[in-house]
Amino acid sequence: MRKRIAILGSTGSIGTQALEVISENSDYFEVEVLTANKNADLLISQAKKYLPNTVIIADESKYKKVSSELSKFPIKIFAGTKSIEQIVESSEIDIVLTAIVGYAGLISTINAIKAQKTIALANKETLVVAGELISKLTLKHKANIIPVDSEHSAIFQCLVGETHNKIDKLILTASGGPFREKNTNFLKNVTIEQALNHPNWSMGNKITIDSATLMNKGLELIEAKWLFDVPTEKIEIVIHPQSIIHSLVQFEDGSLKAQLGLPDMKIPIQYALSFPNRIKNKFKKFSFNDFNTLTFEKPNKTKFKCLNIAIESIKKAGNTPCVMNAANEVAVSAFLNKKIKFLQIPEIIEQTILKTDYIKKPDLTDYINSNKKATEIAQLLIK
Ligand code: NAD
Ligand code: MG
Repeated sequence: MRKRIAILGSTGSIGTQALEVISENSDYFEVEVLTANKNADLLISQAKKYLPNTVIIADESKYKKVSSELSKFPIKIFAGTKSIEQIVESSEIDIVLTAIVGYAGLISTINAIKAQKTIALANKETLVVAGELISKLTLKHKANIIPVDSEHSAIFQCLVGETHNKIDKLILTASGGPFREKNTNFLKNVTIEQALNHPNWSMGNKITIDSATLMNKGLELIEAKWLFDVPTEKIEIVIHPQSIIHSLVQFEDGSLKAQLGLPDMKIPIQYALSFPNRIKNKFKKFSFNDFNTLTFEKPNKTKFKCLNIAIESIKKAGNTPCVMNAANEVAVSAFLNKKIKFLQIPEIIEQTILKTDYIKKPDLTDYINSNKKATEIAQLLIK
């Protein structure tokens, strides 16, 4: 039986790479659902190629275009955010790949968990915003979450067969981004193009800026805490500029396990879809002939303030990571629209956290309201 996949965010970096993985492995997988935000053209061409059961465009103004172009195909077409949030409950879906960027992925992920789907999770912001709630729901509904993020896929792979053994430490590796070797003075005036020029990975704009500020590693520390139920003090971050060791687990006996490979997201995407099996593929493989030196250094939390802000936010817990995430989304978007400078990103986030009410034990409504409030405050600060 082929696994039926719903790709939420099929037009993005993860979404398009997932479709490549599925194309290469059509004996194992078939596309059931494709969704996009605004990119109707790409969604239409993907639908014609993969013939899913359903396509959804979040932007309702694009519905006419999508439905008229696909009218000759046996495909159901819907529009709007609510449709994406509901489709994940369909009995025709085996795996939901959450490849929407940002807070926008929260409710569809929650609904997929409640519908007991296997979730291939790329949308890390969901765990940053509401990690405690997501963990509780995952246990309650016995859903499976398989990480797609390369570091978390690495840790997940290291933990296969180790369920009875205690984790002593998780070590998340980070490339360090494009500004690893630059000083704070240089960071003052970096351009969008410089910030989008990631040394090792080609990704969507938001995560690429998060990688340049190191916020991405902070988000990933929070993601790891909830995925693997490990306290933050036991998660270490190490800069590894070659991005070959994707992360490590240290056990109580001092043994370290690591997962290595070339920086290619198709590998963790494929693993999340094929788990517990591995599938042979044609992707380029790592060779020591190409990399004879792997290096490691400590992250600079003074230069990259966002990393510290994220770590402090998960220590404060409650709704703070949710507020931080909302402010970061606003600030990154403002930087990409040339409204603020690179070093103003952490300033906006810090100010937003200070100005938002703290909620110690938030429920879903509190997360929704905190996200809304923090978004408004961050937008006002930018104005
Ligand atoms: P992207 O911007 O390239 O793609 C985002 C996708 O989500 C697009 O299909 C877009 O149409 C859709 N989308 C955006 N806003 C939406 C909304 N409001 N409603 C519905 N759909 C919406 O992003 P990406 O780089 O593919 O990243 C996706 C997620 O995966 C992020 O959470 C990111 O942190 C995570 N991730 C990405 C990579 C990578 O290599 N790109 C690696 C690890 C984790
Ligand atoms: Mg990652």
